[in-house]
Amino acid sequence: MRKRSRMGALALSALLAIPNGVFAEGYDLRVEPTCTEWGYIEHHEDEYDRIVMTSLPPLGHSFSDWVSDEARSEQQRACQVCGYTESRHYVSETVQRIPWIKLYGSLEGINKKVKVTVDCEFGSQTINFSTKAVMTTQGHSTLYYNKLNYTLRLYDDPTRDIKHRVIFPGWQEEHKYILKANMYDPSQVRNVVGCRIWRSILETRPNLPERLAGLPTLGTVDGFPVSLWLNDEFMGLYTLNLHKDNDLFGMKTDEKVALTICNARTSDEALFLVPPRLSEDGLDDWETEFSGLKDRSWINESFADFVAFLNGSDDAAFKESLPAYLDVDAAIDYLIFLYALGLRNSGAKDLILLNYGTIWIPAAFDMDEAFGRLNDGSGYLNPSTDFLPAELQEGWRSGTDSVLWDRLLQNYRPEIKARYQALRQGPLTAEALRTQVQAFADQIPELLYRWDQELYPDRPFTYEESIQQIDQWIEDRLPVLDQVIGGF
Ligand SMILES: [Zn+2]
Repeated sequence: MRKRSRMGALALSALLAIPNGVFAEGYDLRVEPTCTEWGYIEHHEDEYDRIVMTSLPPLGHSFSDWVSDEARSEQQRACQVCGYTESRHYVSETVQRIPWIKLYGSLEGINKKVKVTVDCEFGSQTINFSTKAVMTTQGHSTLYYNKLNYTLRLYDDPTRDIKHRVIFPGWQEEHKYILKANMYDPSQVRNVVGCRIWRSILETRPNLPERLAGLPTLGTVDGFPVSLWLNDEFMGLYTLNLHKDNDLFGMKTDEKVALTICNARTSDEALFLVPPRLSEDGLDDWETEFSGLKDRSWINESFADFVAFLNGSDDAAFKESLPAYLDVDAAIDYLIFLYALGLRNSGAKDLILLNYGTIWIPAAFDMDEAFGRLNDGSGYLNPSTDFLPAELQEGWRSGTDSVLWDRLLQNYRPEIKARYQALRQGPLTAEALRTQVQAFADQIPELLYRWDQELYPDRPFTYEESIQQIDQWIEDRLPVLDQVIGGF
């Protein structure tokens, strides 16, 4: 706060009071506060001129109502006292071309463990509702950046735990979602479109497990772009994504099912060199995110058997017995998907292994690095030369360093080739991939891309560059894979 110094006050009173003694019985010197500046009262008490100071806080602006400028998607208001004006973005008709989420309250103190409750308004052309939202931040690595991912749980009454369930088109009923910042992907395209491409591959798999085939999204994450607002301030362009949990995979309690995920990139456990420890809290390289049974020992045993088989079988035994441990069709799709989208790290990190009581089923998740994006955001893989199957002296190597994918490639090349060529007639044509990318990106108003960029200017690529790179990846990558995998 601002105050006159004691010295200044004494000097002033000496000047005013002492020459003629007029103010001997006390007087006030008052400086009025303005909209933004402190004022004060200097109370001179008696003939000895003792002074008591009282601060007067700034009055704050007296704003008129917001006036909307639809053409610029901007609102303005002016202070009727000092004339100060301020402007903000708002949910104009242009912004309303995609759904919007308005939060009211404070996110102060929020982190992965500390929940905050805010009011939440969801709006779109077809679905509108108001709820309480209980939020935490989400994810491991993005917490250092200013555009955060959030977990969003919707409640009618969070204290009584009444879930507010929503059915978005094509999704199953849910109350828990992820607000994904896509911090290093200003196009917002990679993660959701990666998920959709994975789903389009599952749609054509002849032996898709029945448990997945019966689910609305076949157990794949989906999302749609939203504009996010906090107390009417634009917070950025986000995607609202399905949450990867037992509901997504149709898993229930009291049945022998497991949802496990790898959290590490390069450790021995992540690369299947040693049996993993499966934690429940995400602190180990492998994590059991859901177990239908309280007793999880069968998960650890099954995993240990699988890893022992991967490391202890010769090629003939591997080829013959792999189906007793792993859904080989799913594994082949997964590896082809990694090559097509340049998801080099997903050989380990974010690999999901599902189990409905018998064998392990690989599933893809978190495609932030789709189309060859490097995980630190600094650039991209070279689609013509990077992350390709390679025949070395010791055999075929997948480029993932993982025992699982190296051995699959070594022993199932004819099957991989046949499946790849089938997929190249369907979901992996350049046209199919471009259609997915465009269908997603074209719905986002250019204005929102621009606002998001203004809000988070430190990203190394613009949304235009990001979309252009995706297009170039599709152009360059497929012919190279046709040659390499076609040559198996
Ligand atoms: Zn003012």
